[in-house]
Amino acid sequence: KAKRHNATVEVYDPTHHQRNAARLSLLTELRQAVERDELVLYYQPKYAFKPDKALHLEALVRWVHPQRGFVPPMEFIPFAEQTGYIKAITQWVMNRAIQQCAEWQRAGREIHVGLNISARDLLQPDLPETFVRMLEAHACEARLITLEITESAVVDDPRNALANLERLRATGCSLSIDDYGTGYSSLSYVRQMPVHELKIDRSFVMNLTTHPGDEIIVRSTIELAHDMGLTVTAEGVETEDILLRLGELGCDLAQGYLVSRPLAVADLDVWMANSPWA
Ligand code: C2E
Ligand code: CA
Ligand code: CA
Ligand code: CA
Repeated sequence: KAKRHNATVEVYDPTHHQRNAARLSLLTELRQAVERDELVLYYQPKYAFKPDKALHLEALVRWVHPQRGFVPPMEFIPFAEQTGYIKAITQWVMNRAIQQCAEWQRAGREIHVGLNISARDLLQPDLPETFVRMLEAHACEARLITLEITESAVVDDPRNALANLERLRATGCSLSIDDYGTGYSSLSYVRQMPVHELKIDRSFVMNLTTHPGDEIIVRSTIELAHDMGLTVTAEGVETEDILLRLGELGCDLAQGYLVSRPLAVADLDVWMANSPWA
C-alpha cells in the first residue's frame, strides 16, 4: 500500500504512533548524517556520442549509515523533501560536488559535473547566492556545473521558480530538465524555462528498441530539443542496442548502467582507463 517514494520506515511501521516515532528518528539521524559526514557522492559517467575531450558526470548522493549500511537516495531524499531538511542536504551536495570539480580542474582534468536540485530548493530565494558563494569559495568555474531540476517546481510556483532559474543561468552554469517526460504539461513549461539540456527519463529509454511508442516519444523529444537549441541526455541506457539507436536518433549524451554504474571517486580512474565508453 505504501507508495514507492515513501521512506522505507513507513513500509514496516503500521501504526501512526510508531510511524511518527520512526520518522522522527529518521530526521534526527539525517541531521547527524550531515554533521558526521556520513553522506558521500558517487559519480555516474556519461557517454558523449560526438567525441568530447571533456568528461561528463552526474553526482548522486548516498548515505553510509553506521548501522543500516548503504542507504539509497530514494529512501531518504523524498522524506527530506517533505520535512524541509532537503535544503541542508542540497547545500552539502552542492558544496562537495563543486569542491570535487574544482579539484579535478586543478589537476588538469576538464570534468563537467551535474547535480540534482529538488523542486523545493528551487523555490528558495537564496539558492543562487549560495551557489555563487560556493563556486567562489572553491574557485570553480560555473560552466563546469550543471544543475538538474525537475519540472514540478515550475508547475507549483512558476513565477518564483522561473525568477530563480534566470538568476542561476546568469551565473554561467548549465541548467537541465531532469526526468523529462514524466511531468504533466511538459511542453508549455519547457518553452518558458531558460535551460540548456533535456534529460529524457529512463522510463522512455528502457524500452526504446522494443516499444515503438517509446521510440516516437524519444525521437520527437530529441528533434524538439534540438530545434530549441537544447542538448539531450538519455538516462537509463542499459543495452548496446539502445545506445546505438539513440546515436541514430541524434542524442548527445547517454547515461546508464551500460556506460557505467555510479562510481566512488577512487573508481573513476579505473573506469577511464578500462571502459570502452570512456
Ligand atoms: P535521477 O536524478 O533520475 O538519477 C538517476 C538514477 O538512475 C540514479 O539512481 C542512478 O543510479 C539510476 N540509474 C542510472 N543508470 C541506470 C540504468 O541504466 N538503469 C537503472 N535502472 N537505473 C539507473 P539513484 O542514485 O538511486 O538516485 C535516485 C534518485 O534520487 C535520483 O534520480 C534523484 O532524483 C535523487 N537523488 C540522487 N542524488 C540526489 C541528490 O544529491 N540530491 C537530490 N535532490 N536528489 C538526489
Ligand atoms: Ca538527475
Ligand atoms: Ca531526478
Ligand atoms: Ca530519472
